[in-house]
Amino acid sequence: MIEYNHIIVRYGEITLKQRNRNTFIEQLRRNVKGALADFPNVKIEARHERMMLTLNGENHTKVIERIRKVFGIHSVTPAFKAKKDLQSIKDISLEYINQLETKPQKFKVETKRADKSFPIGSEETSREIGAHILINAQPITVDVHNPDLVLKVEIKPEAVFISGETFKAVGGLPVGTSGRAMLMLSGGIDSPVAGYLMMKRGVEIESVHFESPPFTSDKAKQKVIDLAEKLSHINGKMVLHVVPFTEIQKTIHEKIPANYTITVMRRVMIKIVERLRIKREAMAIVTGENLGQVASQTIESMFTINEVTNTPILRPLISHDKSEIMDLAREIDTYEISIRPFEDCCTIFKPANPKTKPIREKVNHFESFVDFNPLIDEAIENIEKVIFTDRKKKEKTVIDELF
Ligand code: ATP
Ligand code: MG
Repeated sequence: MIEYNHIIVRYGEITLKQRNRNTFIEQLRRNVKGALADFPNVKIEARHERMMLTLNGENHTKVIERIRKVFGIHSVTPAFKAKKDLQSIKDISLEYINQLETKPQKFKVETKRADKSFPIGSEETSREIGAHILINAQPITVDVHNPDLVLKVEIKPEAVFISGETFKAVGGLPVGTSGRAMLMLSGGIDSPVAGYLMMKRGVEIESVHFESPPFTSDKAKQKVIDLAEKLSHINGKMVLHVVPFTEIQKTIHEKIPANYTITVMRRVMIKIVERLRIKREAMAIVTGENLGQVASQTIESMFTINEVTNTPILRPLISHDKSEIMDLAREIDTYEISIRPFEDCCTIFKPANPKTKPIREKVNHFESFVDFNPLIDEAIENIEKVIFTDRKKKEKTVIDELF
């Protein structure tokens, strides 16, 4: 039994973006390297047309599972490397067919000769290999129109690669090629999925979470930390800013009419995220909002909340059905964390009858009696940062170095 020793990685949408191609490829190489941090023997070579991984003994199934989820990759193909002589190609091809779990009944060989110094033409090479397999791997027939398996033989200047099966990858754009955004991460189902969808379009995410101890528990916070860690695997790394929000919550509760507390709370949250956005040189805010789900997510509410910023607020879930969001959450493995039963700061201070159509003039009037600025400054000064890189949580000293 021979083990696959290479993986051919095909680029996704980046092929369309000729001008930025090098930046995209370089970013993707870094992202693949990060995703494979715990497979230290894998060697990555990012070429213009595709990426080649040399496994050096690492398990191909595990490596494929990992990199299929890296945004910017269209498909992955495990391959065998053969020496550049016909006998070696024939031997490896036969062995390839023999080690397949489901044996093909009909096959064909496709040879691509990129290295013209190879003395035999593509057609003839295919015929030679085909004949060798027919004789030695019975029962099997050649069928060029409707084969179960296309055995691909690529003759490159550096070596020959033999492959058969290709696995589709997730697509998207490499994280880090579309700038950076601040994700408002609650412990719910939606916001992690919103972050995921923006990462899929190449946006690098930093997370911001508002906590209100003692009204919110350590367990609620742990949920968010666990979600941030999950997302770090996709984002490459993850910075989570935990903002102490208790004093602000209490002030809103005391000073703002009950049916407007949610609106004001959201506006203050956005103001704080906006300050962090500037500090962290990000260019957008991402939320898990979804039109019509709850009082604060009506179009009127968004209009009134949005007044406090002119930074783009990206809401990738705006038109999704809840069931679609839940499916995505399961797919990215955040669902089980999100449904752990702990209160977040919003549910605790939730009024009985929040306004579904809050009005800008009214909220500005109510806010004019309260000076939130010193409270905002204090909250920002006391932010706690949690950072995940290389699939590990960083210690406090490392965090200080990073900022
Ligand atoms: P989610 O499932 O993401 O919690 P939701 O449907 O429960 O969303 P809301 O609780 O109204 O909706 O929150 C809307 C959005 O506001 C969230 O998706 C998130 O982006 C942001 N948000 C809510 N609470 C917090 C919080 N404590 N910290 C940071 N962001 C928050
Ligand atoms: Mg929520």
